[in-house]
Order: sequence, then C-alpha cells, then structure tokens
Amino acid sequence: MITIVGAGLGGLTLARVLGVHGIESVVYDLDASPHARHQGGMLDMHEESGQMALRAAGVFDEFARHVLEGGDATRVLDKHAAVLFDEEGNGERPEIERGALRDLLLYSLPEGTVRWNSRVVGVRPVDGGHELTFADGRTEVTELLVGADGAWSRIRSLLSPDQPVYSGLSFVELRIPAEPRVAAVVGAGSLFALDDERGILAHKEPGDEICAYVAVKKPSDWATGEISREVLVAHFADWHPDLREIIAAGEGTLTPRPIYALPVGHRWGRTAGVTLIGDAAHLMSPFAGEGANLAMQDGAELAHAIIAHPTDVEAALGAYEAAMFPRARQAAEESMANLVSLFEPHGARRLADMFLSFAAG
Ligand SMILES: Cc1cc2nc3c(=O)[nH]c(=O)nc-3n(C[C@H](O)[C@H](O)[C@H](O)COP(=O)(O)OP(=O)(O)OC[C@H]3O[C@@H](n4cnc5c(N)ncnc54)[C@H](O)[C@@H]3O)c2cc1C
Repeated sequence: MITIVGAGLGGLTLARVLGVHGIESVVYDLDASPHARHQGGMLDMHEESGQMALRAAGVFDEFARHVLEGGDATRVLDKHAAVLFDEEGNGERPEIERGALRDLLLYSLPEGTVRWNSRVVGVRPVDGGHELTFADGRTEVTELLVGADGAWSRIRSLLSPDQPVYSGLSFVELRIPAEPRVAAVVGAGSLFALDDERGILAHKEPGDEICAYVAVKKPSDWATGEISREVLVAHFADWHPDLREIIAAGEGTLTPRPIYALPVGHRWGRTAGVTLIGDAAHLMSPFAGEGANLAMQDGAELAHAIIAHPTDVEAALGAYEAAMFPRARQAAEESMANLVSLFEPHGARRLADMFLSFAAG
C-alpha cells in the first residue's frame, strides 16, 4: 500500500495511474470534503505532460468532453487597451476548469481511496518507514510515502530544509459573473493586460463566467488584510476604463494569492521510502504555465517507475527523481525569467513578442 499525502492534481494522478496497474494506494487530504473549497480558474493541458498523464490515467476521453471550446484563444493588451496580440487557439493546449479536472480524477478512483479531513501535522522516520501524525491524534506508519501536499508541504521537511520564498508579486483572484462588456474585452480564452509592473489576467470559464487575477508588486501580506474592489480599482486609475471594469464588475470574495516559489533547481539526496511530487517538490510562479501539468506528469511518471521496479522501491524513486529534477529546473527557470520580464515596464510588448515567436515556430 502506497501512502500519498495530498489530493491535488498530482496526488490524484499518481493514485489513479497506480490503480490502473492494480497497485493500491491511500490518499490523505486536509479538506473536509471534495468540494470544501473552490479549486480556482482554468488550466491548459500540455501534450507532453498534462495530456500524457490523462492518457496514462485512462481518462483522456472524459477530459476531452470537459474542454472549453475556443478556450485556448489568447489576447495581450497594454494599459490603454491597445491589442498587441490576438489569436484563436489551435486546439494544441486545451483548457479545462480546474474543478472539473480534479473531479474527473477523483471519481475515477475506488470509493474510499481518498480520506478527507486528514490533516498531517507531523512526520518522522521510524523502523520500517515513516510515521504520520494527523490533527486528530491518529498515527499511521507507512513503508512508501509520497508528499503531494503542495506549496507548504509537511512531508518536504524529511528531504530538504528549503521553504518557499515570496516572489514580490501578489495576485488577488476575483470572479466576474457573465457580463457582455467584460466578456467582449476578455474574448473567448485568456486575456493578459500588462503594463507598468502591474497586470490583469483573466480567463473565460464555462457558463461565460470569468476568473481574473489582479497582479501587483506589493509586500506578501498586502492583500491578506482588508482589501476591497475599490482599493484594487484605484491601483489601476491610469488604465483604460474597459480594463478597470473587469475588476469593478467582480462579485463575491476576493482571494489573495501571494506568489511564492521554491529555489530554482530545488532537489534532495535519495532518502529511503519517501519522495515528493508537484508543488511540494518544485513550487514555481505560474508564469511558465507548467505547475499543474508538471504535478500530473510527476504523478504519472512516479507511478510508471514504481510499476517498472516492482521489487525495488529505491530504484523506482531514484529513477523518478533523476528525470524530474532537470525538467522541474528548466520550468522553474522559465517561470522566474517570465515573472521578471512581464512585470517590468512594457511587459505586454514582451509577452506579445513571445507569443509571436511561438506562432512563427
Ligand atoms: C494563480 C495561479 C495560477 C496558476 N495557473 C496555472 C496554469 O495556468 N497552468 C498550470 O499548469 N499551473 C498553474 N498553476 C500552478 C498549479 O496550480 C499548481 O502547480 C498545482 O495545483 C500543483 O498541484 P499539486 O497536486 O502539486 O498541489 P496542490 O494542488 O496544492 O494540492 C495539494 C493538496 O494537498 C493537501 N494538503 C496540503 N497540506 C496538507 C496536509 N498537511 N495534510 C493533508 N493534506 C494536505 C491540500 O488540501 C491539497 O488538496 C497556477 C497557480 C496559481 C497560484
């Protein structure tokens, strides 16, 4: 039995691919239930990572049924709402709502695989493996432990002293109900409005709702206190009214998302009986668009390594880590470079040039 801490995209992919090959696992998650919190906005699935993992999990056809048609369109604006790049998608990077993606992985698992309301508060090496302590005082010893527990992983402390570092950039997530004026500015897919070290990033969702992230360079605790829509709009006072309207039209809770990252190239020495996948292993800023894709690729590849080495767990973990470390480093370098260049003056021009260079092949 393999023990996975974290029922995010990485942990669920791992459990599912193991299950497809007849290997049992248990997944512990701190959430009280599968729908205890909104999972966030849209994700595009990349061929070599997210899509590969969905195929390995045997859920690609169901995934295809949830893809938002035309959702891979991309538009780049500067603060005057001048359009610097505007292109329909080509279907190579299909977009899906994060909640739908998590559900399709979750409900592909045998009932009872995920144990909700199971917050891990402590972990230590013991004879025969590792002992997990849960918030309600329960303990459990596991032979093979996988930390899929995200940015603030508890399991990571077994392998590495490193902690995520604040990037200097904060997002505030807001949701905008279907509204024709905002919909016209955002378009069918993603909108990136960038200028003067600030940004409004938005995406159309199924049902014509919009999820937007307002991005500003501020101290890490800036948005965790009282933050209002008016305060946010005021930060964009010199921006085109159509762009300010995206913030003003939002409804409901404002969710602060300060952006943290682990050191680029985060790694550890082989430690018996435990490894990490996804953000727990390589948290990075979202500016390579890779975090969820890599978490799912990690899950699928770790499962494949375990299947390929049925009697040698250490060989399996070593093979998985040897492939994961360099690919995570490459994505982390890209996301770090993009974070810097997109939030310098003329970020929109840089992003438009980047998309034009991709389009030129
Ligand atoms: C604003 C934003 C936009 C993003 N956009 C994209 C994008 O467009 N494309 C992309 O590929 N990536 C994107 N990402 C990155 C992506 O969201 C993450 O990389 C991905 O969710 C990581 O998955 P994971 O399974 O490793 O971790 P998570 O999704 O964080 O899951 C971890 C799970 O572990 C559980 N957990 C945590 N601690 C404990 C504990 N102590 N005990 C028990 N359970 C625990 C949590 O409840 C959670 O369910 C974005 C990130 C942000 C912040």
